[in-house]
This record gives sequence, C-alpha cells and structure tokens, in this order.
Amino acid sequence: MEANLMECILRVPVKRNVNDIQVWGNGELKKYTVNSAYECLAKQTRGTHHVVFEVLWKAKAFPNVVITTWRVLIDRIPTRVRLSRREVLMLLTVCGLCQINEESCQHLFIECKYAQLVWSLCLNWLGIVFVQHNDPKSHFVSFHCVQASFKQNLMLKGIWTTVVRTISEQRNSIMFKKRVVDANEIFQMTQLKSWSWLKHRSNSFTYSLQIGLLTRLYV
Ligand SMILES: [Zn+2]
Repeated sequence: MEANLMECILRVPVKRNVNDIQVWGNGELKKYTVNSAYECLAKQTRGTHHVVFEVLWKAKAFPNVVITTWRVLIDRIPTRVRLSRREVLMLLTVCGLCQINEESCQHLFIECKYAQLVWSLCLNWLGIVFVQHNDPKSHFVSFHCVQASFKQNLMLKGIWTTVVRTISEQRNSIMFKKRVVDANEIFQMTQLKSWSWLKHRSNSFTYSLQIGLLTRLYV
C-alpha cells in the first residue's frame, strides 16, 4: 500500500502558483461519494473471483451457512494454522478432525480424510461425479452438474455451503466439547439441513429425504 501511495503521489506534477484542490476518482469526479468508492472497489475485484462470489450469494442455503462459506473461500476461518501465523498462542496446529495434518482451511474442508468421506457420501446421495480440486474455490466452482438447470445448480451450491458449515461446526464441537469425529453424522446433518431449507423455501419441492435430493430432478 505504501508503494502504491508513493506511485500515486509521484505521478502528480507539482506546479507553482496553482492552488491545491481535492480530487476523487482519477480526476473524473471532484466530490467523494460512498457509491463512487463502492464502484471503485468493485471494479478492482471483478474477474474470475467475482463470478465465484456472485454464485455464492445466490446459493440456496441459510444465510449464516453462506457467510461461513464466504469466509472459507477467502481463507478467513480461524484454523489452527491461521491462528499460529497470526501469533496467537497455539499448542497444536494439527487438524481438529484427523489430528494428523496441519489444520489449514484447504485441509480441513477438502483434503482431510474425514472431509473426503463426507464429500464422497454427499456425491453418492446426489448421484453426481466430479473431479475434486484441492483448492476450496475451485472445488466450489466444480460442484456443478451440466445436466441440471441453473436453479438446480444453485441447490447444489447450497449443499456445498452446508457441508462446509457442518464440518466447521463438528470441528468446533470436537475442540471445545471434546466430541468424537463422525463423518456419517456430518453427512446426515448436511442432508437434513439442505433438505429442510429447500422444503420450507420452495412450494414445488416435494422430494423425499431418503430417495435422493436431486437425482430425479436431472431427468
Ligand atoms: Zn484432518
């Protein structure tokens, strides 16, 4: 930021006998407005990543679930690795689920053997197959079915967010309530939460929890 500031300052030619004035927005606007600041920041973040978040905010899931996913996708979950990097005193940096590997965001939600088991149960339930990426953002983007409609894919994104939220809750229960990790329980909770959200939000949604949520919708 300091380098950027210096670059901006050095670009301005200093003139004698000219009064200073306040200028905002590359000289196009002279008056600052919150809206113009928002537009300026939005321009910087548009691109591939922007598309990811556009889809995320439309995902069919509870708002708190979507917020947790947003934090996962921007790597802002206080995992043990992240806390230790921020110099918060941590005795261990190993994963709260497997107790083997370091607990990074990528490991906890994607690479951990328990997370992998949950994803596998979930994919069987949904009847979809896809190549699993290690990076959470790519994993989220590829959790997609080409035969499904846009709306159905938003349901899939909602399920993705619910898996992530439930893993996070289970990991906290293990850490703070000394519970034992159970991938089947994470999957069943995900199944129940996703299904109940869809059941209560959509009048046309009549599918049984046990039969499979989306398999019949692809037909
Ligand atoms: Zn692990």
